[in-house]
Amino acid sequence: MLEKYRKYIDKIDNDIANLLNKRKELTQQIMDYKLNNLLPINNINRENEIINQLINNFHNLNPSLIKKIFNAIFNDSKSENVLKESFQTINEYLTIRPLIIAGPCTVESKLQINNIANDIAQIGIKFLRGGCFKPRTCANSFQGLEDEGVHFLYDAARKNKMYTVSEILDLQQYIRNEEYIDIIQIGSRNMTSYGLLKSIGKATAKTNKYVLLKRGMSATINEFIAAADYILQAGNPNVILCLRGIRTFEQIDSTFRFTPDLSGILELKEKTKLPILFDPSHSTGSNKYVKSISKAALELGADGLMLEVHNSPQDAIVDSNQAIHPTELKEIV
Ligand code: PEP
Ligand code: MN
Repeated sequence: MLEKYRKYIDKIDNDIANLLNKRKELTQQIMDYKLNNLLPINNINRENEIINQLINNFHNLNPSLIKKIFNAIFNDSKSENVLKESFQTINEYLTIRPLIIAGPCTVESKLQINNIANDIAQIGIKFLRGGCFKPRTCANSFQGLEDEGVHFLYDAARKNKMYTVSEILDLQQYIRNEEYIDIIQIGSRNMTSYGLLKSIGKATAKTNKYVLLKRGMSATINEFIAAADYILQAGNPNVILCLRGIRTFEQIDSTFRFTPDLSGILELKEKTKLPILFDPSHSTGSNKYVKSISKAALELGADGLMLEVHNSPQDAIVDSNQAIHPTELKEIV
């Protein structure tokens, strides 16, 4: 008699283990999908839903037993993956201070951006910048790799568990590349393109995608804040301000490309609650000053930095004078 019952029990245990095995295979696929798509591994709501449904469906089982068993199953399916999840959601990374965005002035090739992404990811950088639509003074200067460059940037970033930052010059560029640019940059030259600010504000208000707005090189602080307001009023609260140097009479004979507007950090902090970044690369125009200006900006309370980094600075197609090597970035970090 006892033997007969034991055989049944053995069969049931076998079935349970078999089902657990199948369940684990399925959850592994879900975890891989989440990791590849930068989705959070933990989903407490979903876990609670499963447990509540089981409690409702199996009245004769003790609810605390169901909870205990399924929490153990959930933890088992997540355990290795939580370790693998060495990157988090963009919002989590955006709370890190100092917030550092780094990468080349422009994406030049798949190899170039992959090499740079790889080097700076090892320093712990989570945001990879790279211009693909370049606002060049001369129409016959290199204009960027456009959509193809955005794809290179995105692939290089995701391979290294980073998010992308890239400038767009018009709404169509944004629409075509929305999926691949995590933080949309509006550059200095477009700070007063009010039509662009309005349309990007409206387009990003649907998803609250972050917009990084750079100060116009001849804009006052209040004009800068007023420009950010166009995006805020369109319904997107996620604006990051970036000071990048202004034109003053120093440019008549100083070696600085612009005058680093460090005082702007203090004033913006009083006048707005938006995150404030400082760009030591464009504001100085020279890699030999990048480190000291970075330090000064952070001392003054900037929330972070946006730096131009190249694996072979002297060969950079655009802005080679101000590009620093990843080893210099490492020192700054
Ligand atoms: C840039 O960051 O790539 C850039 C062009 O900067 P800015 O708009 O400040 O000149
Ligand atoms: Mn540049």
